[in-house]
Amino acid sequence: MITGKNYIGNQLSAKGNKNFKTFNPLLNVENDWEITEASEEEISDAATLASESFKIYSKVSGTKKAQFLRAIANEIEGLGDELLEVFSAESGLPNGRAVGERGRTLEQLRAFADHVEAGNWVEASIDTAQTERQPIAKVDLRKMNIALGPVVVFGASNFPLAFSTAGGDTAAALAAGCPVIVKSHPMHAGTGDLVASAIINAAQKTGMPNGVFSNLNSSDFEVGQLLVQNPNIKAVGFTGSHGGGRALYDLAAKREEPIPVFAEMGSVNPVVILPKALQNRAKEIAKTYSGSITLGTGQFCTNPGLILGIKSEGLNNFVETLAEEIVKIEPSVMLHPNITGAYEKSKATALSQKGIKVLADYETEVKPNYVRQVVTTVEGNTFLNNTTLHHEVFGPYSIVVQCENKAQLEDIISKLEGQLTGTILSDDDEIASHTNIVNILQNRVGRIILNGVPTGVEVCPSMLHGGPYPASTDSRFTSVGVDSIKRWARPFSYQDWPNDMLPDELKNENPLGIFRNLNRNLTKEKI
Ligand code: NAP
Repeated sequence: MITGKNYIGNQLSAKGNKNFKTFNPLLNVENDWEITEASEEEISDAATLASESFKIYSKVSGTKKAQFLRAIANEIEGLGDELLEVFSAESGLPNGRAVGERGRTLEQLRAFADHVEAGNWVEASIDTAQTERQPIAKVDLRKMNIALGPVVVFGASNFPLAFSTAGGDTAAALAAGCPVIVKSHPMHAGTGDLVASAIINAAQKTGMPNGVFSNLNSSDFEVGQLLVQNPNIKAVGFTGSHGGGRALYDLAAKREEPIPVFAEMGSVNPVVILPKALQNRAKEIAKTYSGSITLGTGQFCTNPGLILGIKSEGLNNFVETLAEEIVKIEPSVMLHPNITGAYEKSKATALSQKGIKVLADYETEVKPNYVRQVVTTVEGNTFLNNTTLHHEVFGPYSIVVQCENKAQLEDIISKLEGQLTGTILSDDDEIASHTNIVNILQNRVGRIILNGVPTGVEVCPSMLHGGPYPASTDSRFTSVGVDSIKRWARPFSYQDWPNDMLPDELKNENPLGIFRNLNRNLTKEKI
Protein backbone atom coordinates (compact mmCIF):
# COMPACT_ATOMS: atom_id res chain seq x y z
CA MET A 1 0.00 0.00 0.00
CA ILE A 2 1.25 3.49 -0.81
CA THR A 3 1.85 5.39 2.44
CA GLY A 4 2.64 8.79 0.89
CA LYS A 5 5.16 9.28 3.70
CA ASN A 6 8.94 9.44 3.90
CA TYR A 7 11.05 6.62 5.31
CA ILE A 8 13.59 8.03 7.76
CA GLY A 9 15.34 4.73 8.19
CA ASN A 10 12.68 2.28 9.39
CA GLN A 11 10.36 5.05 10.56
CA LEU A 12 7.51 6.41 8.43
CA SER A 13 7.34 10.16 8.77
CA ALA A 14 5.33 13.04 7.26
CA LYS A 15 6.28 16.20 9.15
CA GLY A 16 6.32 18.45 6.07
CA ASN A 17 3.41 20.66 5.04
CA LYS A 18 3.78 20.32 1.27
CA ASN A 19 1.71 17.60 -0.42
CA PHE A 20 1.58 16.62 -4.08
CA LYS A 21 0.13 14.01 -6.42
CA THR A 22 1.62 12.07 -9.30
CA PHE A 23 0.07 12.14 -12.78
CA ASN A 24 -1.37 9.56 -15.17
CA PRO A 25 -0.39 10.78 -18.66
CA LEU A 26 -2.56 8.21 -20.47
CA LEU A 27 -5.75 9.29 -18.70
CA ASN A 28 -4.53 12.89 -18.36
CA VAL A 29 -5.55 13.00 -14.69
CA GLU A 30 -3.79 13.16 -11.33
CA ASN A 31 -3.45 9.87 -9.47
CA ASP A 32 -5.40 9.49 -6.22
CA TRP A 33 -2.57 9.02 -3.77
CA GLU A 34 -1.11 12.01 -1.98
CA ILE A 35 2.60 12.28 -1.20
CA THR A 36 4.16 14.42 1.53
CA GLU A 37 7.43 16.17 0.75
CA ALA A 38 10.27 15.69 3.27
CA SER A 39 10.85 18.59 5.67
CA GLU A 40 14.29 20.06 6.41
CA GLU A 41 14.24 18.28 9.78
CA GLU A 42 13.51 14.92 8.13
CA ILE A 43 16.30 15.44 5.58
CA SER A 44 18.77 16.14 8.36
CA ASP A 45 17.51 13.18 10.45
CA ALA A 46 17.87 10.77 7.51
CA ALA A 47 21.46 11.93 6.87
CA THR A 48 22.41 11.65 10.56
CA LEU A 49 20.89 8.18 10.77
CA ALA A 50 22.70 7.11 7.59
CA SER A 51 25.99 8.30 9.07
CA GLU A 52 25.34 6.35 12.30
CA SER A 53 24.34 3.20 10.41
CA PHE A 54 27.48 3.45 8.25
CA LYS A 55 29.60 2.60 11.29
CA ILE A 56 27.86 -0.81 11.45
CA TYR A 57 26.85 -1.43 7.84
CA SER A 58 30.31 -0.76 6.39
CA LYS A 59 31.58 -3.74 8.42
CA VAL A 60 28.79 -6.15 7.44
CA SER A 61 30.17 -9.21 5.62
CA GLY A 62 29.66 -9.87 1.90
CA THR A 63 27.49 -12.89 2.72
CA LYS A 64 25.14 -10.82 4.89
CA LYS A 65 24.94 -7.97 2.36
CA ALA A 66 24.09 -10.59 -0.27
CA GLN A 67 21.23 -11.86 1.93
CA PHE A 68 19.96 -8.27 2.25
CA LEU A 69 20.11 -7.62 -1.52
CA ARG A 70 18.36 -10.90 -2.33
CA ALA A 71 15.72 -10.12 0.29
CA ILE A 72 15.08 -6.74 -1.38
CA ALA A 73 14.55 -8.53 -4.71
CA ASN A 74 12.14 -11.01 -3.07
CA GLU A 75 10.22 -8.26 -1.30
CA ILE A 76 9.86 -6.30 -4.56
CA GLU A 77 8.55 -9.45 -6.25
CA GLY A 78 6.15 -9.82 -3.33
CA LEU A 79 4.61 -6.42 -4.13
CA GLY A 80 2.98 -8.22 -7.06
CA ASP A 81 0.53 -6.51 -9.37
CA GLU A 82 0.12 -3.41 -7.22
CA LEU A 83 3.64 -2.32 -8.13
CA LEU A 84 3.05 -2.92 -11.84
CA GLU A 85 -0.23 -1.01 -11.77
CA VAL A 86 1.22 2.00 -9.96
CA PHE A 87 4.27 1.96 -12.27
CA SER A 88 1.98 2.21 -15.33
CA ALA A 89 -0.35 4.76 -13.74
CA GLU A 90 2.61 7.05 -12.97
CA SER A 91 4.42 6.69 -16.29
CA GLY A 92 1.93 5.74 -19.02
CA LEU A 93 4.25 2.83 -19.80
CA PRO A 94 2.51 -0.47 -20.62
CA ASN A 95 2.33 -3.52 -18.33
CA GLY A 96 4.88 -5.41 -20.46
CA ARG A 97 7.43 -2.68 -19.88
CA ALA A 98 6.64 -2.69 -16.14
CA VAL A 99 7.22 -6.45 -15.99
CA GLY A 100 10.44 -6.16 -18.02
CA GLU A 101 11.83 -3.33 -15.94
CA ARG A 102 10.97 -5.09 -12.69
CA GLY A 103 12.79 -8.18 -14.02
CA ARG A 104 15.85 -6.10 -14.79
CA THR A 105 15.75 -4.50 -11.32
CA LEU A 106 15.60 -7.91 -9.61
CA GLU A 107 18.38 -9.24 -11.83
CA GLN A 108 20.61 -6.28 -10.89
CA LEU A 109 20.01 -6.78 -7.15
CA ARG A 110 20.77 -10.51 -7.41
CA ALA A 111 23.86 -9.90 -9.56
CA PHE A 112 25.24 -7.55 -6.89
CA ALA A 113 24.41 -10.16 -4.22
CA ASP A 114 26.50 -12.76 -6.10
CA HIS A 115 29.26 -10.20 -6.66
CA VAL A 116 29.72 -9.26 -2.99
CA GLU A 117 29.30 -12.85 -1.86
CA ALA A 118 32.17 -13.89 -4.15
CA GLY A 119 34.12 -11.03 -2.57
CA ASN A 120 36.73 -10.42 -5.28
CA TRP A 121 35.40 -6.90 -5.94
CA VAL A 122 37.53 -5.55 -3.05
CA GLU A 123 40.65 -6.07 -5.25
CA ALA A 124 42.75 -7.22 -2.30
CA SER A 125 46.46 -6.65 -2.76
CA ILE A 126 49.15 -7.87 -0.37
CA ASP A 127 52.88 -7.15 -0.35
CA THR A 128 54.45 -9.07 2.51
CA ALA A 129 57.31 -7.67 4.57
CA GLN A 130 60.97 -8.25 3.69
CA THR A 131 62.77 -7.68 6.95
CA GLU A 132 66.14 -8.58 5.42
CA ARG A 133 65.90 -6.11 2.54
CA GLN A 134 68.84 -3.71 2.20
CA PRO A 135 69.37 -0.86 2.68
CA ILE A 136 65.93 -0.56 4.32
CA ALA A 137 63.57 -3.35 5.41
CA LYS A 138 60.31 -3.56 3.46
CA VAL A 139 57.09 -3.10 5.45
CA ASP A 140 53.99 -5.34 5.16
CA LEU A 141 51.29 -3.55 3.11
CA ARG A 142 47.74 -4.78 2.42
CA LYS A 143 45.21 -2.87 0.38
CA MET A 144 41.50 -3.33 -0.42
CA ASN A 145 38.44 -1.34 -1.43
CA ILE A 146 36.26 -0.12 1.43
CA ALA A 147 32.88 1.67 1.49
CA LEU A 148 32.86 5.44 0.95
CA GLY A 149 30.03 6.52 3.28
CA PRO A 150 26.35 7.49 2.99
CA VAL A 151 25.24 7.95 -0.64
CA VAL A 152 22.34 10.00 -2.02
CA VAL A 153 20.68 8.55 -5.13
CA PHE A 154 18.66 10.53 -7.69
CA GLY A 155 16.81 8.43 -10.27
CA ALA A 156 15.59 9.46 -13.71
CA SER A 157 11.92 9.68 -14.63
CA ASN A 158 12.22 7.35 -17.62
CA PHE A 159 13.14 4.22 -15.60
CA PRO A 160 10.84 4.24 -12.53
CA LEU A 161 12.30 0.92 -11.34
CA ALA A 162 15.64 0.05 -12.95
CA PHE A 163 17.25 3.51 -12.49
CA SER A 164 15.31 4.59 -9.42
CA THR A 165 14.61 3.64 -5.77
CA ALA A 166 16.11 0.11 -5.87
CA GLY A 167 17.82 0.62 -9.22
CA GLY A 168 21.44 0.14 -10.21
CA ASP A 169 22.88 3.00 -8.11
CA THR A 170 21.12 1.90 -4.92
CA ALA A 171 22.00 -1.78 -5.42
CA ALA A 172 25.65 -0.94 -6.11
CA ALA A 173 25.99 1.41 -3.13
CA LEU A 174 24.35 -1.06 -0.71
CA ALA A 175 26.59 -3.81 -2.09
CA ALA A 176 29.67 -1.69 -1.42
CA GLY A 177 28.61 -1.15 2.22
CA CYS A 178 27.20 2.37 1.89
CA PRO A 179 23.85 3.41 3.41
CA VAL A 180 21.57 4.99 0.80
CA ILE A 181 19.15 7.91 0.91
CA VAL A 182 16.97 8.04 -2.20
CA LYS A 183 15.69 11.42 -3.33
CA SER A 184 12.49 10.00 -4.76
CA HIS A 185 11.49 11.15 -8.25
CA PRO A 186 8.29 13.23 -7.98
CA MET A 187 6.87 11.73 -11.20
CA HIS A 188 6.83 8.20 -9.78
CA ALA A 189 6.73 8.85 -6.04
CA GLY A 190 4.06 6.13 -5.49
CA THR A 191 6.21 3.51 -7.23
CA GLY A 192 9.16 4.73 -5.14
CA ASP A 193 7.11 4.49 -1.93
CA LEU A 194 6.21 0.83 -2.61
CA VAL A 195 9.78 -0.10 -3.49
CA ALA A 196 11.08 1.74 -0.40
CA SER A 197 8.73 -0.33 1.79
CA ALA A 198 10.22 -3.49 0.22
CA ILE A 199 13.77 -2.31 1.00
CA ILE A 200 12.86 -1.46 4.60
CA ASN A 201 11.17 -4.86 5.08
CA ALA A 202 14.25 -6.59 3.68
CA ALA A 203 16.56 -4.56 5.94
CA GLN A 204 14.57 -5.49 9.04
CA LYS A 205 14.25 -9.17 8.10
CA THR A 206 17.99 -9.51 7.50
CA GLY A 207 19.03 -7.52 10.59
CA MET A 208 20.52 -4.49 8.88
CA PRO A 209 21.08 -1.33 10.98
CA ASN A 210 18.34 1.28 11.09
CA GLY A 211 19.25 4.06 8.62
CA VAL A 212 20.84 1.80 6.02
CA PHE A 213 18.10 3.08 3.74
CA SER A 214 15.84 6.15 3.67
CA ASN A 215 13.42 7.43 1.05
CA LEU A 216 12.62 11.13 0.86
CA ASN A 217 9.83 12.61 -1.23
CA SER A 218 10.10 15.92 -3.04
CA SER A 219 8.16 17.94 -5.54
CA ASP A 220 10.98 20.31 -6.45
CA PHE A 221 14.75 20.71 -6.27
CA GLU A 222 15.16 21.82 -2.64
CA VAL A 223 15.18 18.38 -0.99
CA GLY A 224 17.89 17.11 -3.35
CA GLN A 225 19.99 20.21 -2.95
CA LEU A 226 19.85 20.06 0.86
CA LEU A 227 20.85 16.40 0.75
CA VAL A 228 23.87 17.06 -1.48
CA GLN A 229 24.98 19.85 0.86
CA ASN A 230 24.57 17.79 4.04
CA PRO A 231 28.02 17.08 5.61
CA ASN A 232 27.02 13.48 6.46
CA ILE A 233 26.64 12.64 2.75
CA LYS A 234 29.84 11.36 1.13
CA ALA A 235 28.82 10.70 -2.51
CA VAL A 236 25.96 11.21 -4.97
CA GLY A 237 24.57 9.02 -7.75
CA PHE A 238 22.49 10.82 -10.36
CA THR A 239 20.72 9.72 -13.54
CA GLY A 240 18.89 12.39 -15.49
CA SER A 241 19.32 15.52 -17.54
CA HIS A 242 22.54 17.40 -18.14
CA GLY A 243 21.11 20.48 -16.40
CA GLY A 244 20.25 18.53 -13.24
CA GLY A 245 23.48 16.53 -13.11
CA ARG A 246 25.67 19.56 -13.63
CA ALA A 247 23.80 21.65 -11.03
CA LEU A 248 24.30 18.95 -8.38
CA TYR A 249 27.93 18.38 -9.40
CA ASP A 250 28.66 22.11 -8.96
CA LEU A 251 26.84 22.15 -5.62
CA ALA A 252 28.90 19.20 -4.35
CA ALA A 253 32.14 20.85 -5.51
CA LYS A 254 31.32 24.03 -3.55
CA ARG A 255 30.92 22.17 -0.24
CA GLU A 256 33.56 22.70 2.44
CA GLU A 257 34.31 19.00 1.90
CA PRO A 258 33.69 18.41 -1.84
CA ILE A 259 32.26 14.99 -2.64
CA PRO A 260 32.05 12.95 -5.87
CA VAL A 261 28.87 13.17 -7.95
CA PHE A 262 28.60 10.29 -10.40
CA ALA A 263 26.11 11.71 -12.86
CA GLU A 264 24.92 9.81 -15.93
CA MET A 265 23.30 12.36 -18.18
CA GLY A 266 21.83 12.89 -21.61
CA SER A 267 23.41 11.94 -24.92
CA VAL A 268 22.62 12.16 -28.66
CA ASN A 269 24.36 8.84 -29.45
CA PRO A 270 25.81 9.53 -32.92
CA VAL A 271 25.26 6.94 -35.65
CA VAL A 272 27.69 6.95 -38.58
CA ILE A 273 26.51 5.25 -41.77
CA LEU A 274 29.51 4.41 -43.95
CA PRO A 275 29.24 4.87 -47.77
CA LYS A 276 28.86 1.20 -48.81
CA ALA A 277 26.21 0.57 -46.17
CA LEU A 278 24.31 3.58 -47.52
CA GLN A 279 24.72 2.34 -51.08
CA ASN A 280 23.61 -1.25 -50.36
CA ARG A 281 20.99 -1.03 -47.63
CA ALA A 282 19.83 2.55 -47.10
CA LYS A 283 16.15 1.55 -47.01
CA GLU A 284 16.63 -1.33 -44.56
CA ILE A 285 18.65 0.90 -42.21
CA ALA A 286 16.03 3.65 -42.42
CA LYS A 287 13.29 1.19 -41.43
CA THR A 288 15.29 -0.12 -38.47
CA TYR A 289 16.13 3.39 -37.31
CA SER A 290 12.58 4.72 -37.54
CA GLY A 291 11.80 2.06 -34.89
CA SER A 292 14.83 2.89 -32.74
CA ILE A 293 14.16 6.68 -32.79
CA THR A 294 10.55 6.22 -31.66
CA LEU A 295 11.08 3.29 -29.23
CA GLY A 296 9.53 4.21 -25.86
CA THR A 297 8.54 7.60 -27.39
CA GLY A 298 12.26 8.31 -27.72
CA GLN A 299 12.62 8.42 -23.93
CA PHE A 300 15.87 6.49 -23.69
CA CYS A 301 19.25 8.00 -22.88
CA THR A 302 20.64 5.86 -25.74
CA ASN A 303 18.15 7.15 -28.30
CA PRO A 304 19.83 7.78 -31.70
CA GLY A 305 19.46 11.57 -31.88
CA LEU A 306 22.14 12.21 -34.49
CA ILE A 307 22.76 10.37 -37.78
CA LEU A 308 25.80 11.15 -39.93
CA GLY A 309 26.47 10.22 -43.56
CA ILE A 310 28.36 11.50 -46.61
CA LYS A 311 26.25 13.03 -49.40
CA SER A 312 25.38 10.39 -52.00
CA GLU A 313 22.46 8.74 -53.73
CA GLY A 314 22.42 6.24 -50.86
CA LEU A 315 22.06 9.03 -48.28
CA ASN A 316 19.19 10.54 -50.31
CA ASN A 317 17.45 7.14 -50.30
CA PHE A 318 18.01 6.80 -46.58
CA VAL A 319 16.58 10.24 -45.82
CA GLU A 320 13.57 9.65 -48.09
CA THR A 321 12.75 6.25 -46.56
CA LEU A 322 13.28 7.47 -42.99
CA ALA A 323 10.78 10.28 -43.64
CA GLU A 324 8.24 7.80 -45.05
CA GLU A 325 8.70 5.22 -42.31
CA ILE A 326 8.71 7.50 -39.30
CA VAL A 327 5.26 8.96 -39.99
CA LYS A 328 3.80 5.45 -40.25
CA ILE A 329 4.48 4.96 -36.54
CA GLU A 330 1.56 5.91 -34.31
CA PRO A 331 2.25 8.86 -32.00
CA SER A 332 2.67 7.72 -28.40
CA VAL A 333 2.36 9.10 -24.92
CA MET A 334 5.24 10.66 -22.98
CA LEU A 335 5.87 10.08 -19.28
CA HIS A 336 4.52 13.33 -17.92
CA PRO A 337 3.36 16.79 -19.02
CA ASN A 338 6.74 18.21 -17.84
CA ILE A 339 8.66 15.86 -20.16
CA THR A 340 6.24 16.65 -23.01
CA GLY A 341 6.77 20.36 -22.37
CA ALA A 342 10.55 19.95 -22.29
CA TYR A 343 10.43 17.96 -25.56
CA GLU A 344 8.29 20.57 -27.33
CA LYS A 345 10.56 23.36 -26.08
CA SER A 346 13.88 21.76 -27.07
CA LYS A 347 12.41 20.60 -30.40
CA ALA A 348 11.19 24.14 -31.14
CA THR A 349 14.68 25.48 -30.37
CA ALA A 350 16.23 22.94 -32.77
CA LEU A 351 13.67 23.64 -35.50
CA SER A 352 14.18 27.39 -35.26
CA GLN A 353 17.87 27.11 -36.15
CA LYS A 354 18.97 28.35 -39.57
CA GLY A 355 19.38 25.69 -42.26
CA ILE A 356 17.20 23.02 -40.59
CA LYS A 357 14.86 21.13 -42.91
CA VAL A 358 12.02 19.09 -41.42
CA LEU A 359 11.82 15.70 -43.14
CA ALA A 360 8.89 14.19 -41.33
CA ASP A 361 6.28 15.54 -38.95
CA TYR A 362 2.64 14.67 -38.29
CA GLU A 363 -0.19 16.59 -39.85
CA THR A 364 -2.88 15.36 -37.46
CA GLU A 365 -3.62 16.50 -33.93
CA VAL A 366 -2.44 14.34 -31.05
CA LYS A 367 -4.06 13.62 -27.68
CA PRO A 368 -2.83 15.39 -24.50
CA ASN A 369 0.64 14.15 -23.41
CA TYR A 370 1.12 12.46 -26.81
CA VAL A 371 3.81 13.88 -29.12
CA ARG A 372 4.72 13.89 -32.79
CA GLN A 373 7.97 12.28 -33.83
CA VAL A 374 10.17 14.53 -35.95
CA VAL A 375 13.18 13.91 -38.18
CA THR A 376 15.20 16.80 -39.59
CA THR A 377 18.24 17.21 -41.83
CA VAL A 378 21.03 19.74 -42.11
CA GLU A 379 24.20 20.39 -44.13
CA GLY A 380 27.48 19.37 -42.50
CA ASN A 381 28.80 22.98 -42.47
CA THR A 382 25.71 24.31 -40.73
CA PHE A 383 25.92 21.60 -38.08
CA LEU A 384 29.62 22.28 -37.47
CA ASN A 385 28.99 25.98 -36.91
CA ASN A 386 25.96 25.71 -34.63
CA THR A 387 26.46 23.78 -31.39
CA THR A 388 22.78 24.24 -30.43
CA LEU A 389 22.11 21.49 -32.97
CA HIS A 390 24.44 19.15 -31.04
CA HIS A 391 22.21 19.12 -27.92
CA GLU A 392 19.87 16.32 -26.85
CA VAL A 393 16.17 16.73 -27.70
CA PHE A 394 14.81 14.17 -25.22
CA GLY A 395 12.02 12.38 -27.08
CA PRO A 396 11.35 10.93 -30.56
CA TYR A 397 13.61 13.32 -32.48
CA SER A 398 16.66 12.81 -34.66
CA ILE A 399 18.73 14.94 -37.02
CA VAL A 400 20.47 13.62 -40.16
CA VAL A 401 23.67 15.50 -40.97
CA GLN A 402 24.69 15.43 -44.64
CA CYS A 403 28.49 15.72 -44.78
CA GLU A 404 30.37 16.96 -47.86
CA ASN A 405 33.09 14.33 -47.61
CA LYS A 406 35.00 11.99 -45.30
CA ALA A 407 37.16 14.83 -43.94
CA GLN A 408 34.09 16.79 -42.86
CA LEU A 409 32.51 13.68 -41.31
CA GLU A 410 35.69 13.13 -39.26
CA ASP A 411 35.79 16.81 -38.27
CA ILE A 412 32.18 16.68 -37.05
CA ILE A 413 32.73 13.53 -34.98
CA SER A 414 35.85 15.00 -33.38
CA LYS A 415 33.89 18.13 -32.34
CA LEU A 416 31.00 16.28 -30.70
CA GLU A 417 30.54 16.42 -26.93
CA GLY A 418 31.13 13.21 -24.96
CA GLN A 419 28.47 10.55 -25.58
CA LEU A 420 27.20 7.34 -24.00
CA THR A 421 27.35 5.45 -27.29
CA GLY A 422 28.52 5.70 -30.89
CA THR A 423 27.31 3.38 -33.66
CA ILE A 424 28.92 2.51 -36.99
CA LEU A 425 26.90 0.94 -39.78
CA SER A 426 29.25 -0.74 -42.22
CA ASP A 427 29.06 -3.24 -45.05
CA ASP A 428 31.45 -6.21 -45.25
CA ASP A 429 35.02 -5.12 -44.58
CA GLU A 430 34.27 -1.42 -45.20
CA ILE A 431 35.05 -0.56 -41.59
CA ALA A 432 38.66 -1.75 -42.03
CA SER A 433 39.31 1.19 -44.35
CA HIS A 434 37.70 3.66 -41.93
CA THR A 435 39.85 3.14 -38.84
CA ASN A 436 40.31 6.89 -38.52
CA ILE A 437 36.58 7.32 -37.95
CA VAL A 438 36.61 4.46 -35.43
CA ASN A 439 39.48 6.09 -33.52
CA ILE A 440 37.90 9.54 -33.48
CA LEU A 441 34.57 8.11 -32.37
CA GLN A 442 36.22 6.02 -29.63
CA ASN A 443 37.58 9.24 -28.18
CA ARG A 444 34.06 10.68 -27.84
CA VAL A 445 31.99 7.76 -26.50
CA GLY A 446 31.76 5.11 -23.75
CA ARG A 447 30.55 2.24 -25.94
CA ILE A 448 30.91 1.63 -29.67
CA ILE A 449 28.37 -0.49 -31.56
CA LEU A 450 28.77 -2.12 -34.96
CA ASN A 451 25.75 -2.66 -37.22
CA GLY A 452 23.14 -2.37 -34.50
CA VAL A 453 21.07 0.24 -32.72
CA PRO A 454 22.18 2.07 -29.56
CA THR A 455 18.88 1.57 -27.73
CA GLY A 456 19.07 -1.41 -25.35
CA VAL A 457 21.62 -1.60 -22.52
CA GLU A 458 22.56 -5.16 -21.58
CA VAL A 459 23.18 -5.62 -17.85
CA CYS A 460 26.43 -7.57 -17.52
CA PRO A 461 29.97 -7.05 -16.24
CA SER A 462 31.38 -6.04 -19.64
CA MET A 463 28.85 -3.24 -20.19
CA LEU A 464 30.18 0.30 -19.99
CA HIS A 465 27.32 2.72 -19.50
CA GLY A 466 28.93 6.12 -19.17
CA GLY A 467 31.33 8.13 -21.28
CA PRO A 468 33.30 11.36 -21.56
CA TYR A 469 31.64 14.50 -20.16
CA PRO A 470 28.80 15.48 -20.51
CA ALA A 471 27.55 11.89 -20.97
CA SER A 472 28.84 11.35 -17.44
CA THR A 473 30.87 13.30 -14.90
CA ASP A 474 33.54 10.59 -14.72
CA SER A 475 34.28 8.49 -17.78
CA ARG A 476 36.33 6.00 -15.72
CA PHE A 477 33.20 4.39 -14.33
CA THR A 478 30.06 2.60 -15.51
CA SER A 479 26.60 3.02 -13.97
CA VAL A 480 25.36 -0.35 -15.29
CA GLY A 481 26.77 -3.77 -14.39
CA VAL A 482 28.55 -4.98 -11.28
CA ASP A 483 31.64 -2.82 -11.85
CA SER A 484 29.49 0.20 -10.96
CA ILE A 485 30.17 -0.78 -7.32
CA LYS A 486 33.62 0.84 -7.71
CA ARG A 487 32.04 4.32 -7.62
CA TRP A 488 31.06 3.80 -3.97
CA ALA A 489 34.38 2.51 -2.64
CA ARG A 490 37.85 3.83 -1.95
CA PRO A 491 41.13 1.95 -1.78
CA PHE A 492 42.61 1.69 1.71
CA SER A 493 45.99 0.36 2.94
CA TYR A 494 46.99 -1.32 6.23
CA GLN A 495 50.68 -1.14 7.06
CA ASP A 496 52.25 -3.69 9.45
CA TRP A 497 48.83 -4.54 10.90
CA PRO A 498 48.39 -7.59 13.19
CA ASN A 499 46.81 -10.50 11.29
CA ASP A 500 43.88 -10.98 13.67
CA MET A 501 42.91 -7.29 13.39
CA LEU A 502 42.88 -7.28 9.60
CA PRO A 503 39.58 -7.67 7.71
CA ASP A 504 39.01 -11.25 6.51
CA GLU A 505 39.82 -10.21 2.93
CA LEU A 506 43.43 -9.47 3.93
CA LYS A 507 44.14 -12.13 6.59
CA ASN A 508 47.00 -14.59 6.00
CA GLU A 509 44.59 -17.57 5.96
CA ASN A 510 42.41 -16.01 3.19
CA PRO A 511 39.28 -17.30 5.01
CA LEU A 512 36.97 -15.96 2.26
CA GLY A 513 38.93 -17.80 -0.44
CA ILE A 514 39.02 -14.72 -2.68
CA PHE A 515 41.49 -13.83 -5.43
CA ARG A 516 44.26 -11.58 -4.11
CA ASN A 517 47.26 -9.93 -5.68
CA LEU A 518 49.86 -11.59 -3.45
CA ASN A 519 53.36 -10.22 -4.02
CA ARG A 520 52.24 -9.37 -7.59
CA ASN A 521 50.66 -12.75 -8.40
CA LEU A 522 46.89 -13.18 -8.67
CA THR A 523 46.08 -16.15 -6.46
CA LYS A 524 43.75 -17.62 -3.84
CA GLU A 525 46.72 -18.99 -1.85
CA LYS A 526 47.15 -18.56 1.87
CA ILE A 527 50.25 -16.88 3.28
P1 NAP B 1 15.89 15.33 -14.55
O1 NAP B 1 14.82 16.30 -14.86
O2 NAP B 1 17.28 15.83 -14.61
O3 NAP B 1 15.53 14.75 -13.09
C1 NAP B 1 16.32 13.77 -12.43
C2 NAP B 1 16.31 14.06 -10.93
O4 NAP B 1 17.18 15.15 -10.65
C3 NAP B 1 14.97 14.47 -10.37
O5 NAP B 1 14.84 13.88 -9.10
C4 NAP B 1 15.07 15.95 -10.27
O6 NAP B 1 14.31 16.51 -9.23
C5 NAP B 1 16.52 16.17 -9.94
N1 NAP B 1 17.01 17.46 -10.40
C6 NAP B 1 17.03 17.91 -11.68
N2 NAP B 1 17.58 19.13 -11.73
C7 NAP B 1 17.93 19.46 -10.46
C8 NAP B 1 18.54 20.60 -9.86
N3 NAP B 1 18.92 21.65 -10.58
N4 NAP B 1 18.73 20.59 -8.52
C9 NAP B 1 18.34 19.52 -7.79
N5 NAP B 1 17.75 18.43 -8.29
C10 NAP B 1 17.55 18.39 -9.61
O7 NAP B 1 15.84 14.08 -15.53
P2 NAP B 1 14.57 13.23 -15.98
O8 NAP B 1 13.63 14.08 -16.71
O9 NAP B 1 14.07 12.53 -14.79
O10 NAP B 1 15.20 12.17 -17.01
C11 NAP B 1 15.41 12.46 -18.38
C12 NAP B 1 16.89 12.70 -18.68
O11 NAP B 1 17.67 11.68 -18.10
C13 NAP B 1 17.24 12.69 -20.17
O12 NAP B 1 18.12 13.73 -20.46
C14 NAP B 1 17.93 11.35 -20.37
O13 NAP B 1 18.80 11.28 -21.46
C15 NAP B 1 18.61 11.19 -19.05
N6 NAP B 1 18.88 9.79 -18.73
C16 NAP B 1 20.17 9.37 -18.68
C17 NAP B 1 20.46 8.03 -18.41
C18 NAP B 1 21.87 7.53 -18.35
O14 NAP B 1 22.08 6.42 -17.90
N7 NAP B 1 22.85 8.28 -18.77
C19 NAP B 1 19.42 7.13 -18.16
C20 NAP B 1 18.11 7.60 -18.20
C21 NAP B 1 17.87 8.95 -18.48
P3 NAP B 1 12.80 17.01 -9.50
O15 NAP B 1 12.15 15.91 -10.19
O16 NAP B 1 12.32 17.33 -8.14
O17 NAP B 1 12.77 18.11 -10.42
